[in-house]
Amino acid sequence: MPKATSDAAEATAKRGTTSDVVVVGAGVSGLYLLYRLRGLGLTVTAFEAGSDVGGTWYWNRYPGCRCDLESLEYSYSFASDLQQEWHWPERYGTQPEILQYVNHVADRFDLRRYIQFNTRVTSAVFDPERNRWTIKTDQDDTVDARFCIMATGNLSTPRTPDFPGLDAFQGEWYHTGLWPHEEVDFTGLRVGVIGTGSSGVQSIPHIAAQAKHLHVFQRTANFSLEARNAPMDPERERQHKANYPAHRDAANDTPFGMSGHPPPEKSALEVPADERNQIYERKWEQGGSVSFLFSFNDLLTNKASNDTASDFARKKIRQKVNNPEVADLLTPTTHPIGTKRLILDTNYYETYNRDNVTLVDVKSAPIEEITKTGLRTAQAGYELDAIVFATGFDAMTGAMLDIDIRVEGGPSLKEAWSAGPRTYLGLMIAGFPNLFMIMGPGSPGVKAQMILGAEQHTDWIAECLQHLRSRELSSVEATAKAEEDWVIHVKEVADSTLYPLANSWYLGANIPGKPQVFMPYVGGFGPYKKKCDEVVANGYEGFLLRP
Ligand code: NAP
Repeated sequence: MPKATSDAAEATAKRGTTSDVVVVGAGVSGLYLLYRLRGLGLTVTAFEAGSDVGGTWYWNRYPGCRCDLESLEYSYSFASDLQQEWHWPERYGTQPEILQYVNHVADRFDLRRYIQFNTRVTSAVFDPERNRWTIKTDQDDTVDARFCIMATGNLSTPRTPDFPGLDAFQGEWYHTGLWPHEEVDFTGLRVGVIGTGSSGVQSIPHIAAQAKHLHVFQRTANFSLEARNAPMDPERERQHKANYPAHRDAANDTPFGMSGHPPPEKSALEVPADERNQIYERKWEQGGSVSFLFSFNDLLTNKASNDTASDFARKKIRQKVNNPEVADLLTPTTHPIGTKRLILDTNYYETYNRDNVTLVDVKSAPIEEITKTGLRTAQAGYELDAIVFATGFDAMTGAMLDIDIRVEGGPSLKEAWSAGPRTYLGLMIAGFPNLFMIMGPGSPGVKAQMILGAEQHTDWIAECLQHLRSRELSSVEATAKAEEDWVIHVKEVADSTLYPLANSWYLGANIPGKPQVFMPYVGGFGPYKKKCDEVVANGYEGFLLRP
């Protein structure tokens, strides 16, 4: 693929020259890193595998793709003018709108010039003698940098199951996370969608509306709530914008990094059943996952409490789906609500009332092979013109482990993480100096509003680099002890919740052979941010700073 790169980035990278920092990835995190680090006067080179900015919003272009967090929250907070001037037309941003917004940010702050597109970083090797990283790419670039920052995303390595026969399939096939840039038209086609996570649930109603017939191949039923998307209420927008700083401050202090949802004070078991149901009903009417999970304070920690919410959501599914057998299949039974990413949908369950949609249970009869003309399960064959893999990602570690990251004379990252990822605060890894991650495993990352998380990590790193510069220090590294303590803490916190009861991608359970370690920090965004701030106030506690 030809390199669509700005002159400046090309010059920096092609000279094989030096840069203070190499940033890997130009999604929402990479862009803010560029803005912030350039603001410190550092030289920064960013590499991006895509042909443009946007990360997740660049790659995931499947029909129906939109954010499951409200637009007024899911946006950058660093520039007051930007957040005042940008208008979000709907409650939840669609993929094209969010991509347009990210492009606007890149242009407004003149960030493209530092990014080399269509370039995948292949290796990053640290030389302890010189305290510098050598970063290489698939376009033969070599950059010598003091710091390397992985802004590679948590859900950026799409995974297509290893079904035999895919190469011979005569129709078209797609992965939701690698969707073509051209419009895909399913009109008149027999389509199969494999997977019913967020991507499947969002795309299925849209594909069903076009296809001649849609077969949905479901292995595990998931909980999905109505998004209740709507055009942006002008009064709501006006009020939010009038109080934006207060909203951002409030978001920084909440478990999920979202304002407008004060943490509840009561247990689900403290209130009579009638009252409890009214509360669920009200939250259901409001739409949104944070709102629903904040009905009571123990839905993610007490199984009996969670059962009341899970049962409420199960009843709603049965009310929407006409065929009781199909409703049964769609009703989740394998995990408590909220312990897998809670999905938001528009018309998902209603789609199964259409004559041109068939649900196929591939738990009882797994997919055995893709044939030339469709696929075959253990029970039957299906003729298909197109297959959509909504089969998810090698989450949280996939993108970093695809890069050969190592310290000369030391272990590679693959070796260091062979039993699962280990980090201190999801920011750094013991034994890998001057290597940072944005929302790495062990941080709230995917369990919080991710733009807020990206800003918090970037600000922390920027402050750390300034600290090193002002004291003429050459390297920073997590200590093995701090990392060990944090890994134990992340596990203890997860074990005190219901999250480990689900076979989720949070745990690596969706990838055969992946070590099963609960990866996100679920102690809450607010407490996590406080911990990061305390570490700095205590002189970078748990980090080794070398002259
Ligand atoms: P996912 O949640 O991992 O779902 C993958 C689906 O594919 C699951 O239903 C899985 O079944 C199924 N699957 C995988 N391998 C299979 C096989 N061999 N046979 C049959 N079925 C198979 O992936 P995703 O839907 O792409 O979502 C990933 C995450 O991205 C979400 O949880 C969310 O955090 C984020 N996301 C967000 C949005 C949004 O903001 N609206 C939209 C899309 C994605 P099992 O459950 O049985 O494994």
